[in-house]
Amino acid sequence: MLSHSPSNTIDFDAAKLQRLGFSSNRTHPLQPISLAQLRQQLNLQLQTSLEADQILELFFREVQCLVPLDALVYRHPSSDVHVELGNPATHCAGYRLNHAGEYLGELLLRRNERFDEYELAQLESLLASLVFPLRNALLYRSALQSALRDPLTDTGNRIAMDQALQREVALAERTKQPLAVLMLDLDHFKSINDRFGHSVGDDVLKAVASQLTDQLRNIDRIFRYGGEEFLILLSSTQHDAAALVGERLRQAILELHCMAQGQAIELSASFGGACLQPGESVQSLLRRADEALYAAKHQGRNRLTMAR
Ligand code: GH3
Ligand code: MG
Ligand code: MG
Repeated sequence: MLSHSPSNTIDFDAAKLQRLGFSSNRTHPLQPISLAQLRQQLNLQLQTSLEADQILELFFREVQCLVPLDALVYRHPSSDVHVELGNPATHCAGYRLNHAGEYLGELLLRRNERFDEYELAQLESLLASLVFPLRNALLYRSALQSALRDPLTDTGNRIAMDQALQREVALAERTKQPLAVLMLDLDHFKSINDRFGHSVGDDVLKAVASQLTDQLRNIDRIFRYGGEEFLILLSSTQHDAAALVGERLRQAILELHCMAQGQAIELSASFGGACLQPGESVQSLLRRADEALYAAKHQGRNRLTMAR
């Protein structure tokens, strides 16, 4: 129902959206549709989402009204978007999408029957309706991603860390899989800033983050927990395996060769590790890792301590 409230609010509910043609499972019209009508329909449909995969799904479904397709494949590697819809087919119309010099990805439309020139012209005209919604979706995705990254080290930030910890702890609890965290703090980092300046300190932080990331599996996540502190989340990892990873990371930091003003910068880090106990909260897991890190510092730094 469309309801007008005294404050001029207009409520579009599911029934109204469906009547306007926004339903997610609308079947194709029985009457033939013109290119102009379909473009108009697409312009309405594609603005209902900011998710690239949903926009492409709508496009794939709507285009079938005019040009039957078996598959749609879309890739935008730098945004990490890869969408495959339909079933593999032999003939392909491929498009490199650009807008005002901005690369918007590769789109392949496939089917088993050859495309004729007229159909290709129709597809190209329909693609014009896809470009702006797709560009908005890519922008939205990149804004969301950068809201979760630490700009200096390109690791996850505190917001990302809190979200990931909540999710992983709940998952580990449900699936009865182990979960470990490693907390690390660079040793005497203040003296690096004091000797070489803050910008060298920043470069060292970047180098450390990249060295740590290189050592981890794809499923492990790294977050900048504080100034020169990082947290590593190791899924499906038990105590002994987590200790091995921690030792490897500690060694990797020792082996990092950073130079400033012709001098080698000596680097080391202290690590505290903890494995999730049954029924344990995120806060308690972090507290135990932090206590283990504190113990590593207390025992002389450049070492790993695992919480019991
Ligand atoms: P400890 O071995 O006890 O950890 O000694 P520390 O010097 O590393 O510890 P402390 O907590 O005294 O100092 C941390 C330093 O990290 C101080 C702060 O200026 C520096 N720091 C924090 N964030 C940044 C940053 O983004 N860039 C730079 N260059 N330095 C940072
Ligand atoms: Mg610190
Ligand atoms: Mg420190």
